[in-house]
Amino acid sequence: MTVTSATGAVLVLNAGSSSLKYQLINPDTEIVIADGIAERIGEMQSSITHHQGGETITQDAELPDHRTAISVAQDLFAECGTALATAGLLAVGHRVVHGGQIFHRPTLITDDVVEEVGRISDLAPLHNPANLIGIEAARSQLPQVPSVAVFDTAFFHGLPDAAATYAIDREVAEHYGVRRYGFHGTSHEYVSGRVADFLGRPIGEVNQIVLHLGNGASASAISGGRPIDTSMGMTPLEGLVMGTRSGDIDPGVLLHLNRVAQLGVDQIDTLLNKWSGLKGLCGENDFRSITEKMAAGDSGARKAYEVYIHRLRRYIGAYMIELGPVDAITFTAGVGENAASVRADALAGLEHYGIVVDAERNAVRSKEARRISADDATVDVLVVPTNEELAIARQAATVVG
Ligand code: ADP
Repeated sequence: MTVTSATGAVLVLNAGSSSLKYQLINPDTEIVIADGIAERIGEMQSSITHHQGGETITQDAELPDHRTAISVAQDLFAECGTALATAGLLAVGHRVVHGGQIFHRPTLITDDVVEEVGRISDLAPLHNPANLIGIEAARSQLPQVPSVAVFDTAFFHGLPDAAATYAIDREVAEHYGVRRYGFHGTSHEYVSGRVADFLGRPIGEVNQIVLHLGNGASASAISGGRPIDTSMGMTPLEGLVMGTRSGDIDPGVLLHLNRVAQLGVDQIDTLLNKWSGLKGLCGENDFRSITEKMAAGDSGARKAYEVYIHRLRRYIGAYMIELGPVDAITFTAGVGENAASVRADALAGLEHYGIVVDAERNAVRSKEARRISADDATVDVLVVPTNEELAIARQAATVVG
């Protein structure tokens, strides 16, 4: 096994409620030295999978908490020749979902920052507490390495007021922080920058729509590098149809479910976050299974697909109007990078807007950024793989650099 030096590398941590994803990456060379995931933390049968130097180690391990998960990951790093504590790491970069109205840029983590992130946890009760556990675990396990928080909301903090404001009573909105924050910002920022590079144009000149279609999904309209609208809102529940999340829904439905179906707030929360979206519509949230089921004639899967595409087209249409002339429409994340039919159907019949997906180019499978529009189309349609870990590593490096 070759041991790659970790000097100057950033350990990127993405802590979920019961999982911890990590990647050790050099922000300059973009070399991924190792990555891994600890799953079912705090549950029975927890496990950890670690990739480094061409090897994969999968281990059942007792992981009662995130601190233990980081400690076990450290052991695996050491087993593969990298002692994290003495490897000369530049920083630990933490993905933090909600930065509220306070955090607009990557931030060096201090006790005060931990306290503030905790204070805004009300805005993201499913995410921020888990992110904080990861932060605290890393600070205690690697106290000599500075930790940096990179917020999913930060890129969207300058959204125009008209796009960020919900039409409800101002006092209530202000008191409770009710506004559009937007999420997946690290990805939208990274991909929109890559689009400008790909087109060989300064980002300040590019009007673009980015469609981040993964398990979670969001769209953004970006004019000259600044987002002017995005589909996720105060929480990551609004907008597109997602794997298990409903996206847009008439708020009256929630009142109806409460009054008539007697569902409590936690049940409605679970319904909208875990049992809706593609899963709610057809029982599957993975696009590969949905495609297979559709091919086998399953009408539920077909309907789920149609609802998904309909919502996507609605956002594309809205953002085309908001942006005025559009230079590029870009697909990214698991579905966007891999599902050629989604890309074709999302943009079908838009030739009169200069949008033409070339069937042959669209069918090519690749991990590289690529153009899938026809040569004579006036709007570039691109597929650009996202890389949130690299973006977090780069931002963390800038803060401590
Ligand atoms: P996350 O939001 O969890 O980061 P990803 O961006 O990894 O999600 O996207 C995961 C989703 O991508 C999967 O649920 C699956 O639906 C979809 N996906 C992955 N590979 C393919 C593929 N080859 N074809 C179609 N869909 C795919």
